[in-house]
Amino acid sequence: MSLEWIAEELAGLRRRDWLRELRVRESPHVTGLVQLDGTGLADFGSNDYLGLSADARLVEAVRRAVGEHGWGSAASPLVSGYGVLHRRLEEELACFMETEAAALFTSGFAANVSAITALTGPGDLILSDQLNHASIVDGCRLSRAATVIYRHGDAEHVRALLGERSQFRRVLIVTDGLFSMDGDFAPLPELAALAAEFDCMLMVDEAHAVGVWGASGRGSIELLGVRSGVDVVVGTLSKGLGGIGGFVAGSADLIAWLRNRGRHYLFSTALPAAAAAASLAALGIVKSEPRHREQLQTAVRRVAGQLAGLEVPVQSQIIPVLLGSERKALETAERMRQAGLFVPAIRPPAVPADQCRLRVSLRAGLRPEDTDRLVEVLRQVRADAAFASGAVPGKPVRPSCAGSIQAR
Ligand SMILES: *Cc1c(COP(=O)(O)O)cnc(C)c1O
Repeated sequence: MSLEWIAEELAGLRRRDWLRELRVRESPHVTGLVQLDGTGLADFGSNDYLGLSADARLVEAVRRAVGEHGWGSAASPLVSGYGVLHRRLEEELACFMETEAAALFTSGFAANVSAITALTGPGDLILSDQLNHASIVDGCRLSRAATVIYRHGDAEHVRALLGERSQFRRVLIVTDGLFSMDGDFAPLPELAALAAEFDCMLMVDEAHAVGVWGASGRGSIELLGVRSGVDVVVGTLSKGLGGIGGFVAGSADLIAWLRNRGRHYLFSTALPAAAAAASLAALGIVKSEPRHREQLQTAVRRVAGQLAGLEVPVQSQIIPVLLGSERKALETAERMRQAGLFVPAIRPPAVPADQCRLRVSLRAGLRPEDTDRLVEVLRQVRADAAFASGAVPGKPVRPSCAGSIQAR
């Protein structure tokens, strides 16, 4: 079949400023500078929240593991790809998350899709937050369970939807703990109470919170005091922990079920042992050196104070600067670039077309002069009345699908 239609679709994306093109990063993350197109910019665009991705201890752990185990793992975990480092990392993750067990996946994306499809099927109901990550959306679609999108962060909406509970065999409530594009936390205590009251499973995706939030770095479930009320915790090793891979933590039965019915666990090659070694080193650092997350939490509080009154909500290290159109978002990103700052513009399909934004992400080890410069540019942008009026993160944006049962 001819692929000419793709050229037309691409031209359509280009006309709308939606076409995304790769830029090659010419520097490692070591310095906190990101070198793009020949210029070094202060990096406000990565998910390397604790600055671990280039930490010498992770690098050394990888070097040693590659020397001992080679690079590839050569098979899926259940065949022969599961080695001593995989087992140690799963045990350490379970210990860290204070659960009975944990299972490793090659990405957080794979962990979400596998967990949701293993836990639900036809005859079941999934209640999914409107702003959940794409991997959760795909898991819901592939599960063939009825999926209902609830209004972002709205536990009352979840309660109303649970009025239909008795029509379904099992019900899964699924949410990001810390939302990736809006930087706000889910109402986890309310959701945990509803899950208990209505006999539902509760799954929380901690991709942006593991290592970063909570007194011990266990994530938003620790920060919000609901560790025991959450049945399924998904995390990633690729953001705060600076490496690659994902995991699910929970009861021993849950993990045994995922090893048998999680499709990415069964049908995809295990992570390289060296990747597990890097995450073991990262976990050790998270446990023994709270200063990294404390630095980050301090930076968040400082920037929140500086941005007070500027219509930029700061609840976490992810700060959405809503601008409306993609043109506005791209112009503002360019303005940041000229000020020596890398702040990515976020456009469809990551967010709805009228909610384009800059996504500022803070990291441990940022220089105060760089955050000051960021704040200064945001003030100028604000003074130029560049903020889209009325665009508030978390406002219902897709009322047509919110609340409708989609028999996917
Ligand atoms: C990034 C992200 C994932 C996917 O994690 P990867 O390890 O990058 O595949 C899952 N959920 C959320 C909320 C994310 O932001």
